[in-house]
Amino acid sequence: MSVRVVARIRPLLETELDKDIIVRPDGAEAGGPHTIVKIPNPKNQAEDFSFAFNAVYDQSTSQETLFTSEVQPHLKSLFQGYDVTIFAYGVTGTGKTHTMRGGLKLADRGVIPRLLSGVFRRGKKIAKDSEGNTTVNVSLSYYEIYNDKVFDLLEPPEKRTPSGLPLRAEASGRTVVAGLSERACEDLRDFEKLYIEANNNRVTASTKLNAHSSRSHAILRVKVTQTTDEMIRESTVSAIDLAGSEDNRRTDNGKERLVESAAINKSLFVLSQCIDAISRGDKRIPYRESKMTRILSLGQNNGITIMFLNLAPLRSYHLDTLSSLNVSSRAKRIEVREIENEVVFKQFPRSAGSHTVQRQPLRPLA
Ligand code: ADP
Ligand code: MG
Repeated sequence: MSVRVVARIRPLLETELDKDIIVRPDGAEAGGPHTIVKIPNPKNQAEDFSFAFNAVYDQSTSQETLFTSEVQPHLKSLFQGYDVTIFAYGVTGTGKTHTMRGGLKLADRGVIPRLLSGVFRRGKKIAKDSEGNTTVNVSLSYYEIYNDKVFDLLEPPEKRTPSGLPLRAEASGRTVVAGLSERACEDLRDFEKLYIEANNNRVTASTKLNAHSSRSHAILRVKVTQTTDEMIRESTVSAIDLAGSEDNRRTDNGKERLVESAAINKSLFVLSQCIDAISRGDKRIPYRESKMTRILSLGQNNGITIMFLNLAPLRSYHLDTLSSLNVSSRAKRIEVREIENEVVFKQFPRSAGSHTVQRQPLRPLA
């Protein structure tokens, strides 16, 4: 199983002055999805470059279609114990936040609220079908990485320390944020309250900084815990809205911006280097060179990874679009080991008296 890379071309916005559409989907078999993105060679407009992806969605694709086709099928795997990672990559203004968070109107809601809704629905069904033998708990962490520092978005901005939270490697090999808060969530309403509050924290913490959100990576981690008398199964789904991948050297940046740009450029640059190294089959992958890549650990974490490549169709984005097409089309070759998380078996009745918890790996699904 490799990383599934899905391109989404956003529509032209009413407010946009540039109406020169240069990015087009192609390569659909009769009735099937598009698989190719075409864009002119900036040095020779008569020539098109083609980039192949697992799927390409055009400007008419609704939030619902994108979710049902690309995310919903993995809910089952999540409850079977696989970790799922979904991230949005692309230039600022191409629709990453629209894809992940979306708008408030029901039809505009993005991947994240739909995902949570699916998690709660499936969790309730599993609990009900088990006739009370399985309890399902959902909890949430939400943080941002800004200038290579980690800040908890579930805590008020006053509680932030300038250096942010440290990362720690778990015994399982997974990298986690130390001291991150985790909130239990009973239902979609709970989630929405927390999520809105957290997004407000993000804004409040950054009133002095314009366009802060396009300069930080926002990471939502949803933990699903299924508990029966015999076992505990834990799996997580992470939804990541990455900082804009534009080349900030080309835009007018003030001093403060330059510090930020360096950090953003660096983490996204390290990400592209990791993608290259993995797709070349290198032994040494430069994960450790930024916090974002340590956390994302592409190709290292078990489970399922979906990369949304967001694209604006316009000429004004030409060079940045080309560079993000280049990075993401190489990501397809990343292999992800699809292995369930270990189930923790509780003490069996036979071994009464002992309070040890046995860890026993389940065999991978055939
Ligand atoms: P990013 O997070 O990548 O910077 P946004 O998600 O903020 O980009 O999108 C930029 C603008 O384009 C927003 O006004 C958003 O509502 C709009 N937009 C993006 N994608 C779509 C889409 N698929 N359909 C309609 N509007 C979109
Ligand atoms: Mg955004």
